[in-house]
Amino acid sequence: MKKIKKDQNENYSAKKKYGQNFLNDNSLLDKILNMANIDKNTEVLEIGPGLGFLTEKLIEGSKFLTSFEIDSDLIPILNKKFRRYENFNLIHKDFLNVDLSESLKDKKDVKVVANIPYYITSPIINKLIEYRESISEIYLMVQKEVAERISSKPHSKNMSLLTHAVQFYSEAEYLFTVPKEKFSPVPKVDSAFLRIKILKDKRYENQISEEKYFKYLKEAFSNKRKSISNNLIKLGFSKDFVKRCLKEAGKTELARTEEFSVQEFIDFIRILNKK
Ligand code: SAM
Repeated sequence: MKKIKKDQNENYSAKKKYGQNFLNDNSLLDKILNMANIDKNTEVLEIGPGLGFLTEKLIEGSKFLTSFEIDSDLIPILNKKFRRYENFNLIHKDFLNVDLSESLKDKKDVKVVANIPYYITSPIINKLIEYRESISEIYLMVQKEVAERISSKPHSKNMSLLTHAVQFYSEAEYLFTVPKEKFSPVPKVDSAFLRIKILKDKRYENQISEEKYFKYLKEAFSNKRKSISNNLIKLGFSKDFVKRCLKEAGKTELARTEEFSVQEFIDFIRILNKK
């Protein structure tokens, strides 16, 4: 455990097990609020308020903030700091175990803004996407490499199952890099601020079921060293057949899954199934 500066926050010791790396840089926090376009009409949800640096800005700048914090040592500190605000609800729970439908009930365009604990980045994003009917945009501070992976474009070596798990439902954009020295305690890796904008037109979900899309995609990505035609054998297709379908989809016989955008992969599944 590393101590945070004494004068700042009641001598609180950051806990590694909860991924605690606090961000107390005024201009950076203002930039985050600006990028997320938060104003007095915005309802915001935050995961992990920590010592409340970003939280304070969010309370003051938004219509209402709901924050989820797992660490019982932080709850009295946050309550003391923010007791005077009526537009703030602090929920002392593990975010991964909360029933979000209660907090998001009857809401439509909630924005999520958070400097999250990196050890649970994927489960947090998956959970937020699950509640996409009530959420419009998700702004997250994540590990730099993860932000690159989530926002990567077809043909990039960073394209992965996680990229598709996000881009099937949203547009992801890498906004800016944040050097590790900005955090306290200083973590091992740099960070990046990421925007995930939910596709309200459901442009991909309207074309194919999630189950089918990810069934094919998981197999296609199952062995990175193998070609798609080899990987899809497990789904009952012959190698030659997959090669013919790849050609029809405008790809080469040796195409790799990293080359495909979401739309191209949907088209490819369609070709595989129509023959
Ligand atoms: N937002 C603060 C900041 O920017 O300084 C703190 C960020 S720190 C990277 C992550 C925060 O998430 C910590 O306060 C930690 O206790 C909290 N946290 C970790 N796991 C959590 C979970 N499962 N549910 C809710 N909060 C969690």
